[in-house]
Amino acid sequence: MAVMRIGVLALQGAFREHRRALGRLGVDTLEVRLPEHLKGLSGLIIPGGESTTMMKLMETYGFDRAIPDFYRAGGAVWGTCAGAITLASELPGYEEQPRLALLPVAVCRNAYGRQIDSFEADLEVAGGEGTFHGVFIRAPRITSVGEGVEVLSRFDGDPVLVRYGRVLVSIFHPELSGDDRIHLLFVQEVCRPTA
Ligand code: GLN
Repeated sequence: MAVMRIGVLALQGAFREHRRALGRLGVDTLEVRLPEHLKGLSGLIIPGGESTTMMKLMETYGFDRAIPDFYRAGGAVWGTCAGAITLASELPGYEEQPRLALLPVAVCRNAYGRQIDSFEADLEVAGGEGTFHGVFIRAPRITSVGEGVEVLSRFDGDPVLVRYGRVLVSIFHPELSGDDRIHLLFVQEVCRPTA
């Protein structure tokens, strides 16, 4: 298998933690700060942070075109939390917010009520053994998923980890739990080089 390298979008947010998790798995990583850094990568992680700010920075640097191009050319993309918001096709209540729209899901920003706007929960993940400790920080809520979207985990009935081909979305923060199994899933399943 060719050497796999995964980029972490490093404009804003929790990118260092993702790099650390991938490093623990022995995966070669790169901080992506300019569109040309996407060249040669198998996958890209768009981290959590603040989606309005992140999207503005993406537009400033040309990632609003470069990331969809990267995906169309065969790259895999994983968005966590704010990163998930930037990937969604629909943002109810935030219709004007620019987005990459790489998968057919509706994502409501900050939709977990005030009382539980940040919380932790043990999640069952399809294909995984035991549970995964999910850390949710002002998480968006996935309110609907379109055709072809695979729901890999739910909390309270709502999808929290979904996959659409080469796109993975989690509204929690697997990079903060010290458990690298979702990173492993991204590396082994979602970024798997196509023949
Ligand atoms: N609430 C943030 C937003 O709407 C996302 C929070 C996060 O990434 N932890 O952009």
